[in-house]
Amino acid sequence: RTVYLNGDYLPEHEAKVSIFDRAFLMGDGVYEVTSVLDGKLIDFKGHATRLQRSLDELDMRAPVTMDALLEIHRELVARNEITEGLVYLQITRGAPDDRDFVFPDPDTTPATIVLFTQNKPGLANSPAAKKGIKVISIADERWGRRDIKTVQLLYPSMGKMMAKKAGVDDAWLVEDGFVTEGTSNNAYFIKGNRIVTRALSNDILHGITRAAVLRFAKEAQMEVEERNFTIEEAQGADEAFITSASTFVMPVVEIDGVALGAGTPGPRALRLREIYLDESRKAAI
Ligand code: PLP
Repeated sequence: RTVYLNGDYLPEHEAKVSIFDRAFLMGDGVYEVTSVLDGKLIDFKGHATRLQRSLDELDMRAPVTMDALLEIHRELVARNEITEGLVYLQITRGAPDDRDFVFPDPDTTPATIVLFTQNKPGLANSPAAKKGIKVISIADERWGRRDIKTVQLLYPSMGKMMAKKAGVDDAWLVEDGFVTEGTSNNAYFIKGNRIVTRALSNDILHGITRAAVLRFAKEAQMEVEERNFTIEEAQGADEAFITSASTFVMPVVEIDGVALGAGTPGPRALRLREIYLDESRKAAI
């Protein structure tokens, strides 16, 4: 695989980063994951906008312009012949001469930028979407700025392991009695014609897929309610689903052992998945 590191396209085994890199030592970095369908980028603009916001919130400088970033994405997709898959992008506060809690001067310590592709044939036509996924609920023990897409993914990773040990696919995180989001996705339930999902705040990541799906839902005459909800309320719903760049719209068929509806993907979630895939493909660049 050809990857991108600080201005160079390299074979992956030749791409090396300093042991003093702030992301390696302190989790001091941000990232984005953009999906690729038909060899084109889905919602690149949304991801680039959120990336800039994450950088701004952490007082970090982008090492390249957003236009250059688009070209790098495209170049990697072309060089690695990705038809369906993902592009991972990470920007860190770079590698100072030594370990120090104080941020290094950005004039002398440039950011580290890494991009690589992940080939995922069948991403859109996923068998998981036909079956739906099962989730458990766990406590949300992440830090307080989940709106910033940082590489501090230890707790989400632990959450996935808890789900795996429980024999299910993923976990929904609960704080003060209310669901925040999934380990790496936003969480929703559907009751009647209404979709409910937590409102945007620092408590959750502002999903790029979330924004698109809520827009399409409204266009399809569904009601959208952004508010807090409990696991019990979601368990009593007709349908549930998650969204993310890598899963698009993925039906949830079981929450903490309680099956939703018939225990199979609901018609509204499947319809939203179809609309999302159709519309995003049309707008892909
Ligand atoms: N919430 C969390 C915690 C995530 O990590 C992600 C994606 O990685 C999402 C939500 C979904 O965001 P997006 O739709 O932009 O992929």
